[in-house]
Amino acid sequence: MPLEEKIETIYQQVRARNPGEDEFHQAVKEVLESLGPVLVKYPEFAEKRVIELVCEPERQIIFRVPWQDDRNEIHINRGFRVEFNSAMGPYKGGLRFHPSVYLGIIKFLGFEQLFKNALTGMPIGGGKGGADFDPKGRSDGEIMRFCQSFMIELYRHLGEHTDVPAGDVGVGGREIGYLFGQYKRITNRYESGVLTGKGLGWGGSLVRKEATGYGAVYFLREMLAVRKGTLEGKTCVVSGSGNVAIYTIEKLQQLGARVVACSDSDGVIVHEKGIDLALVKRLKEIERRRIADYGSLHRDARYIAGGNIWDIPCHVAMPSATQNELNGKDAGRLLANGCIAVAEGANMPCTPEAVRLFLDAGIAFGPGKAANAGGVATSALEMQQNASRDSWTFEYTERRLDDIMTRIHAATFETAEEFGAAGNYVVGANIAGFLKVARAMVAHGLV
Ligand code: NDP
Repeated sequence: MPLEEKIETIYQQVRARNPGEDEFHQAVKEVLESLGPVLVKYPEFAEKRVIELVCEPERQIIFRVPWQDDRNEIHINRGFRVEFNSAMGPYKGGLRFHPSVYLGIIKFLGFEQLFKNALTGMPIGGGKGGADFDPKGRSDGEIMRFCQSFMIELYRHLGEHTDVPAGDVGVGGREIGYLFGQYKRITNRYESGVLTGKGLGWGGSLVRKEATGYGAVYFLREMLAVRKGTLEGKTCVVSGSGNVAIYTIEKLQQLGARVVACSDSDGVIVHEKGIDLALVKRLKEIERRRIADYGSLHRDARYIAGGNIWDIPCHVAMPSATQNELNGKDAGRLLANGCIAVAEGANMPCTPEAVRLFLDAGIAFGPGKAANAGGVATSALEMQQNASRDSWTFEYTERRLDDIMTRIHAATFETAEEFGAAGNYVVGANIAGFLKVARAMVAHGLV
């Protein structure tokens, strides 16, 4: 069978075996489209059916999460953990609490994660989990009870050598605390390495909170450096105002860029003088308010309810909110407005059409698999510190993160060149990640 037909057949099998899971299909398609030249160079991966194997999660867990709200009303949510691939190490990947969560989203995230984790060069496999729980507007007590009920089932699948979750959308330091407390209580073990993103006083790592955003900006810095550019004086827009967005903005500002817009799912803030990050942190990290409130607190900022952040002219766009948030039309507008670089802080935020337009235009495009790997890489650094019962300084940990991101950039850049796609980081990341995982899988035999 010709190569292209073979890859298309694998893709159709994945679709048929996982009906209705659109995001998962999209993530698989994007990777498979890059793998043709790999099968030419390494036919043993086709003979051993490594691609088919890597598309099938090792284990998928779905469970009931019952809990009571503050008025004693009973709620029943659905929890997930997809343990995708352990060829490189224990399953590793975040937990997402969001009403949109279903198996297809967790699988897409787990699939992306396994290649991303391989790219970091750290000994971690890929997994992802979460629940269709909406934390918005819930009290601390409700969040705690939900986390406890979630962990009552999940704990039996976890372990520092088995599966190590972290945060993602809707799961930050507070939730990790409640989850860890419940795990400790059930197992009677202070197993620090079982979760990452922990508080600094009880096993967490400095720089973990900042890592995804900082890392994405380091990746961007490297992409610009290849083109003999820097961030100094560049106008940037960053979607979202959560963990990734906040620390993306922070590092962009530190490197001399001007961030003029950020958002949440209700609307966009435009502040031409530059986003006041201290205010965003206060509203989002402490007071848990909406970004609309920024508009009422800053006279020279503009709030656009229901606005589209990609309408704002910029040199650099960093989608850092959610999947498929930037479509072909948005990409066209960004390009028309003079955008020269896009780095994905979020997972799969650009639709396939948007990615194609960026690549065709020849601008610097950093896919999430590579650009946002700093978070999980620093989670692996947290695991190292836990294992050695040590804690590192901010400066040292940040230097390690910077080194890792610089290496990921170099690996993806060089791999793209090697496989005849110079400058295409999508191909570079997919192939570099796949090769590491595939080699380990072949070495382990048919398991
Ligand atoms: P958070 O929950 O901290 O923040 C998400 C932000 O995105 C919120 O401000 C949310 O607003 C906003 N948002 C959600 N949907 C939309 C939308 N349709 N339009 C505009 N804004 C929206 O999550 P994180 O920052 O942790 O994660 C963001 C992305 O980065 C996700 O794709 C995640 O998988 C990815 N990622 C995260 C890592 C991490 O370390 N945290 C690591 C690697 C990737 P609202 O409050 O209104 O919902």
